[in-house]
Amino acid sequence: ARGLTKVYRMGEVEVHALRGVDLDLFEGEFVVLLGPSGSGKSTLLNILGGLDAPTGGEVICQGRNLVQAGDRELTAFRRHFVGFVFQFYNLIPSLTARENVAIVTEIARDPMPPEEALALVGLAERVDHFPAQLSGGEQQRVAIARAVAKRPAVLLCDEPTGALDSKTGIVVLEVLERINRELGTTTAVITHNATIADMADRVVHFLDGHIDRIDTPAVRKSPRELSW
Ligand code: ATP
Ligand code: MG
Repeated sequence: ARGLTKVYRMGEVEVHALRGVDLDLFEGEFVVLLGPSGSGKSTLLNILGGLDAPTGGEVICQGRNLVQAGDRELTAFRRHFVGFVFQFYNLIPSLTARENVAIVTEIARDPMPPEEALALVGLAERVDHFPAQLSGGEQQRVAIARAVAKRPAVLLCDEPTGALDSKTGIVVLEVLERINRELGTTTAVITHNATIADMADRVVHFLDGHIDRIDTPAVRKSPRELSW
């Protein structure tokens, strides 16, 4: 991202959500984004993933500027290149875990079978369960399986443990860490939990619509070593 700005206009009111953000995401790294509420983290993630357009600036992905991409290119980017995970899972209640993953793999280019994606997140025994029959942490793991089944290059997670207790959160973080390590998926995670920063390759601190600083921890801890 280069010089990203985002202004939301609502009638007379203008909110400057991003005030000139430069950020590189390097292939295979695990990045954590921290910062106060309203500092622009979700706005940035949505723009990086092609869900929203910036007011100004560029998003360069493999040499192409997403901001100038046509509809077809943008749809292909969203469909094949990035996976999203949100705080509140967004599973379809009337579909089983397998079917929730399958709605994505049916339109992907080189997907893994839904059963394989669900095994990857530790839910091989839950493929025929409906969301209401799963715990919060299990539902989030289905959402992660759905996001990675299309083998995205980049996984963007907006507060993936925000609705979970710490023990369940650690299980979800372990899944994200394993996907990053074993599949090499570049991963960016927004969180309000500063201890999660210890498992990152780099920590991006947001403040009032800009990047305040970027830390590079000396060692990357495993989720089980985090002190919550
Ligand atoms: P949180 O930690 O609470 O999720 P955040 O860092 O993700 O916060 P954003 O959601 O990116 O923050 O919001 C940045 C600013 O932009 C906030 O002032 C917010 O109110 C505003 N904003 C976000 N989305 C919209 C929208 N769709 N319309 C208008 N204003 C918005
Ligand atoms: Mg947010």
